[in-house]
Amino acid sequence: MEHIRCNKCGRMLFVQEGNQKEDCLKVQKEWGYFSEKDLELHEFHMCETCYDEMVRGFVIPIRKQAVEEVL
Ligand SMILES: [Zn+2]
Repeated sequence: MEHIRCNKCGRMLFVQEGNQKEDCLKVQKEWGYFSEKDLELHEFHMCETCYDEMVRGFVIPIRKQAVEEVL
């Protein structure tokens, strides 16, 4: 059982037997030479509620597209 917590609110995201029971945002960023975090890999998770809150603060709305269901 893997424990994934939302980095913003700290809430435990429900994960069972490797399958996430709820979806969340996973961000992985390898910072490069043109940043001040040269070659650091940053990773965090965010629950859907915190994600919605974050994107609501965007000046330019996010781009949304429908995706085909993956079986
Ligand atoms: Zn959260």
